[in-house]
Amino acid sequence: MCGETLEQATRAILEFERNPEWVERILEDAEHVPGGTREPSVRNALLTAFLDAQGTRRRIPLHKLLNLPEGRIASSVTISVGTPDEVLKEAFEWHKAGWQVFKVKLGSKHDEAALKALRDHYPDKSICVDANEAWSLAEARTRLKLLERLNVDFVEQPLPRDRLEESAALASEFEIPVIVDESVLDSDDLMRVVREGAADGINIKLNKCGGPYEARRMVKIAKDHDLKVMMGCMLESSLGIAAGAAFAGVLDYADLDGNVLVTNDPFQGFAVAKGIVETPRAGGVGVVARKASPGVVPLGSARGAKQTIV
Ligand SMILES: [Mg+2]
Repeated sequence: MCGETLEQATRAILEFERNPEWVERILEDAEHVPGGTREPSVRNALLTAFLDAQGTRRRIPLHKLLNLPEGRIASSVTISVGTPDEVLKEAFEWHKAGWQVFKVKLGSKHDEAALKALRDHYPDKSICVDANEAWSLAEARTRLKLLERLNVDFVEQPLPRDRLEESAALASEFEIPVIVDESVLDSDDLMRVVREGAADGINIKLNKCGGPYEARRMVKIAKDHDLKVMMGCMLESSLGIAAGAAFAGVLDYADLDGNVLVTNDPFQGFAVAKGIVETPRAGGVGVVARKASPGVVPLGSARGAKQTIV
């Protein structure tokens, strides 16, 4: 009708399959149509779905579609700060389940006592902390001294997200690595952090940056500028965690505990057993949908206060 042949169309589809990053372009263009959206989590979901379909059909795992190496890394598990007794109780459960790295979310009057108790109890464990933008520069200077004394691996987002100049001061004054999370959504933000020297590393999240291709660009930029790379997550299913695990071979830190904190994971086939994240090797992302059944079996076993994905 318009001069298009079946052979041409087939060739075009195969070309698309060889260049899945074209889908990212289409999704970026979608923000310009009336009512268009630029939500990074939506772009991540659609792009990951395309890669999963392609990888599942061709039996190619996601990390190979992305040209990433295989890897294995211990993930941190999040402990909410509370009284020293509460923190130790939670840490004990995760320790029993085999997790080796604790990430403590700070922001209570018990911060100092709880961290000291945790370090006393686990002198050889990796402990890192996330301040979630809570401190002023002066507060951060005091807190970072304590964190260094307690041999904490790194501090995440000590200052509000836009305080890059102050963050640069912390990064240069202290040995403990300053990792930024809220300050860096995508590679544009990352370039600002690089220009300002505002951090020693970044926390990448697929739902925050817009998907695996943008994450891969961020890894490249970070490594080119000697920044540490962490892959983090939201509270999400094992589908999202498995996609993050495709990056295991290029990470300095992993914070991929989202699916062990939920009770109604709709997927199966991938688990972070004993806190170890390994590159999934099945085709596509590496998970399959659970058969709908009442009483979904929760992943992970330790924590009482699990949450439900809505
Ligand atoms: Mg964070």
